Amino acid sequence: MAITFGTLLYFQIMYLENMVKMRESQFSEGVVRALHSTVEELERQETLYYLEEDINIMESTLVMGKTPDNSTVTYQINPNQNASPISKIQYPSATTDISERYHAMQESIKSHYLYQRGLLNEVILNIMRNASNRTITERADSVVVRDFLTKQLEANGIVVPFVFAICSNDGATIYQTRGFINDGLEKYSTPLFPNTDNRYKLIVEFPTKSNYIFSSVRFIIPTLALTVMLLVIFLYTIILAFRQKKLTEMKADFINNMTHEFKTPISTISLAAQMLSDDSVLKSPSTLKHISGIINDESKRLRFQVEKVLQLSMFDNAGGSINFSTVDANNIIYNIVNTHKLKVEKLGGDITMHLDATNSEVYLDEMHFTNVIFNLLDNAVKYMKKDAVPHLNVTTRNYSDDMIEIRVKDNGIGIKKEDIKRIFDKFYRVSTGNLHDVKGFGLGLAYVKKMVNIFGGSIEVESDPGKWSEFIIRLPLVTKSSE
Ligand code: ADP
Repeated sequence: MAITFGTLLYFQIMYLENMVKMRESQFSEGVVRALHSTVEELERQETLYYLEEDINIMESTLVMGKTPDNSTVTYQINPNQNASPISKIQYPSATTDISERYHAMQESIKSHYLYQRGLLNEVILNIMRNASNRTITERADSVVVRDFLTKQLEANGIVVPFVFAICSNDGATIYQTRGFINDGLEKYSTPLFPNTDNRYKLIVEFPTKSNYIFSSVRFIIPTLALTVMLLVIFLYTIILAFRQKKLTEMKADFINNMTHEFKTPISTISLAAQMLSDDSVLKSPSTLKHISGIINDESKRLRFQVEKVLQLSMFDNAGGSINFSTVDANNIIYNIVNTHKLKVEKLGGDITMHLDATNSEVYLDEMHFTNVIFNLLDNAVKYMKKDAVPHLNVTTRNYSDDMIEIRVKDNGIGIKKEDIKRIFDKFYRVSTGNLHDVKGFGLGLAYVKKMVNIFGGSIEVESDPGKWSEFIIRLPLVTKSSE
């Protein structure tokens, strides 16, 4: 599927690229055509200008007339003097015969042709002679050039704002419209008056060209976006599937682990019960006491395990079983630490407490909050270094006006950076090799995090692997306004 998506995306991008290229070349062709037509129009306009001028001159020197029979107009131009004024006019007389008339008509057409040729030659000579007398701004007026360009671009299907300039070939700008940047970059240009004067060029630029090109291929973008979206969804599904697989494996581990944890106390208790049924045991009070002690310890262990599994079920249905109330966090922590103190002191360690938060009123579920702090303290003792004694430190302070911060620090094995990201995941346990064989389900911290989030707080860990770890919980305080 990844290959299919990749190929699909590749072809779509290729298609887009080709479309852009095609549009660009279409655009360029249109512009080039429009520029040529503009220059042609300018030349035609110039020819017209001189033609009019010459016709005026000629007309002032021409003599025109009609034949006596009112049929033809005859001009005669001296063929040896190109475009010189008329030297002589002949009228075929009414009395001449047909051949003479025919001859006269031929002469008339010839002289008409010569007149036209002479006129044209005169115009061309004039252009060549006088073009340099007129300034380039007169010859290519900016308003006229703009009109021609607009018309020609439109005729080529390009209705995009443009700016233009007329520059000499050595790079000097004769004039330019507003917005034109003469940065020497390659733009659309064509020589002005290429047939008579090659010193100037017309340069056109389209500031919004890329937008124009983009707008014509924009319709492909949604399909591209959809493909990318499909790819993302596909990847997400794959990740989910892998996570699910991992979770299933973890759950299987959990069940194995749990079975083992339950089996040991149950078998010990049933063994004790068997011993109790023995008459000799009944007679010895010390053995009886010993057996009842075992049953007591093992049932406590069993209760603790059940407690853990209960936490799991609460964890899954947390939404339904949470009773919020305003409580004093300092008080709750004080009580838990005190109950924990005995356990730690039994191991030769100690817990120091600095409950410095002056405002410790929080709005949460007391039972779950107790479990959260209890889990952290329990872990702090569980994950001790081998042969070390636990020194725990519990502090509270007002992190900000509306936040309380609770820190639980231990001098245990610490947590590596790569594990820190995952210890809050359900069923995740750090693989500690054979360093220690602490039993657990990998649920405690997941439960802690879930609860802290439900209380509207946050939890993070800092640790120096091999030296210490510190769990930091921040919870919102009951502020005066929310009361
Ligand atoms: P469990 O303790 O049942 O394995 P937890 O969710 O409580 O599950 O902890 C997840 C993992 O985080 C543990 O396996 C342990 O490796 C690591 N961990 C938790 N607390 C500490 C701590 N105080 N010091 C070092 N590692 C810890």
